[in-house]
Amino acid sequence: MISIRNLHKKFGDLEVLKGIDLDVQKGQAVVVIGPSGSGKTTFLRCLNILETPSAGTVTIDEQTADFSKPFSKKQVTSFRKQSAMVFQHYNLFPHMTAIENVMEGPVIVQKQNKADARKKAAQLLEKVGLGDKMDFYPFQLSGGQQQRVGIARALALEPKVMLFDEPTSALDPELVGEVLQVMKDLASEGLTMVVVTHEMRFAKGVADEVLFMDGGKIVERGRPEDVFNNPKEARTRQFLNLIE
Ligand code: ADP
Repeated sequence: MISIRNLHKKFGDLEVLKGIDLDVQKGQAVVVIGPSGSGKTTFLRCLNILETPSAGTVTIDEQTADFSKPFSKKQVTSFRKQSAMVFQHYNLFPHMTAIENVMEGPVIVQKQNKADARKKAAQLLEKVGLGDKMDFYPFQLSGGQQQRVGIARALALEPKVMLFDEPTSALDPELVGEVLQVMKDLASEGLTMVVVTHEMRFAKGVADEVLFMDGGKIVERGRPEDVFNNPKEARTRQFLNLIE
C-alpha cells in the first residue's frame, strides 16, 4: 500500500530526513518511535506532501510521487487524497459543530451531497463513540472527544492510509485511553496506518512493525516484541531505557 524510497528532506541546510526506505502492506499498522527532533513528524508530513521532500519517491497504492521531478498542484492534490492525517492538536474548525467538522471535507473537497455526507458523518461519530455529541462545538468537548472527532473527520475522506501525528500527546493522561482504543479498533478492522507516538504500550499491542528513528534515519525496525524486548542497536536500547 505504501512504498517509500530514499526519502530526503532538508530545511535550508538542515537535513532532517536522510534517506528513508519503507514498505507498508495493506492493513498493516506501523508505529514510528524515537527521540524528539529525530524527524518523525517531518517524515509523516512528507507522506501526504504537507512538507515537500527534497528527494526520493513515495508510492501510495497506484500513485507515485517522484520528488526529483517538478510537481504540478493537480498532482499534489490527487496524491493527497489517498491519505488523511490526524494531528496532535486536533485542528478542528472552532466555529463548526462536531458533525459539521466531519462533513466539511466530503462536502467541500469531494463535492459530496450534503445529506449523504451528514448521514455518513453521523455514522462515523457513532463509531468513535460520539453519537450523543454531534451538535456540540469543539469548546464543549474534552480533548479526547475532540481528537475522536479529528479521527472521524479523517475517516470521512475514506483514505487508503491514515497518518497519526502524536495523536494523544496533547491530552491529559486520563483521556489518552479513549483515543488509543479507537485507533486500536481501526487497526483491527484492517485500516492501513502509520502512527507517530510516544505510547509504547500502544506500539507493543497494536503495531505490526515498529520503526525506531534517530537523526533522520530509521535506525532499527522489526516486530514490536523484537524491538522492545531485544533491541539490536545501542541507540534503540538507550532510548527505551530512558522512557521506560
Ligand atoms: P520529531 O517529530 O521526531 O520530534 P521533527 O520532524 O518535528 O522531529 O523535527 C526534526 C527536525 O526538523 C528538528 O530539528 C526541527 O527543528 C526541524 N524542523 C521541523 N520542521 C521545520 C521547519 N518547518 N523549518 C525548519 N526546521 C524544521
